[in-house]
Amino acid sequence: MAFQIVIVPYLSDNYAYIAHDLASGATAVIDVPEPGPILRELAARDWKASHILLTHHHSDHIDGVEALAAATGAFVIGAAADAHRLPPLDLAVAPGDVVRIGMQQGQVIDVPGHTIGHIAYFFPEARALFTGDSLMVMGCGRLFEGTPAQMWDTLGRLMALPDSTRVFSGHEYAATNARFALTVEPGNAVLKTRAESIDHVRAAGGFTVPATLAEERATNPFLRAALPEMKSALGMQDASDLAVFTELRSRRNGFRG
Ligand code: ZN
Ligand code: FE
Repeated sequence: MAFQIVIVPYLSDNYAYIAHDLASGATAVIDVPEPGPILRELAARDWKASHILLTHHHSDHIDGVEALAAATGAFVIGAAADAHRLPPLDLAVAPGDVVRIGMQQGQVIDVPGHTIGHIAYFFPEARALFTGDSLMVMGCGRLFEGTPAQMWDTLGRLMALPDSTRVFSGHEYAATNARFALTVEPGNAVLKTRAESIDHVRAAGGFTVPATLAEERATNPFLRAALPEMKSALGMQDASDLAVFTELRSRRNGFRG
C-alpha cells in the first residue's frame, strides 16, 4: 500500500499512528502522547517525521507533540478552532481543508462531541480514517464537551464514507465496547461473532484497529441507533434516532464491563 500505517500503542490503552507515503518519504504522526515510542518506530524504519496531525486537545493525545516536533522538525497541524489549547501549530486547519502528506491527501472532517473542535482526517486513496476519540472500534468517545446531537451528526458524517474505510481510533476499548454492545443487542449474530474475535485478538496481545466501516455499521451500537432492530432491542420503536443514540450513550456511561 502506498501509505504504510504503523500502529503505536501507548500508556494503558492509547494509540498513536505513523503514516508513511512510500512515493515521497513524507511521514505523518497522528497524535503524540509522548515522543519516545514514536521516535523508536521511526528510527527502526529509517523514516523521518515530516508532519504531526492532531485530532483534539486532550493531554493523552498531545503531551509529546512539542518534544517530537523539536526532535524531528515535523510540521504541526491541528484544528484552528482549538489552536488556543493545542501545542503551537505550524498550520491551523478547518473542516473541509485538505492536508497533504507527500502524495497523500487527507480531508479534515469536523467531529465534535467528545470535545468541540475535535477533527478527524480521512485519506481516501489509502481508505484510512483517523478518528481520535470520536468514532471508536465498537464505540464512540464520551461526551465531555459536546451534545448527543453533535456526536450523532458526527457519526452521520463518518458513516457517509465508503464501507471499506479503515477506522484508526485513539484508544483500545473494543473488548469493553463489545461487552456493552452485547447487553443491548444480544440477538445480533454478527456482533456475537465479532465480540469473540475481539476477545481472541486481545488475548493474543493484538490490536483491534483498524476496523472497517462495514464492520462498524453491522456491530457498533452507536452507528445503529437509526435501525428498527436497534430501536426494538431498546423498546424504543417510536423514538427518534437521536433519542435512541442518547439512550445508548447514557447506558454506556453507566456500563462497568
Ligand atoms: Zn480525548
Ligand atoms: Fe483520549
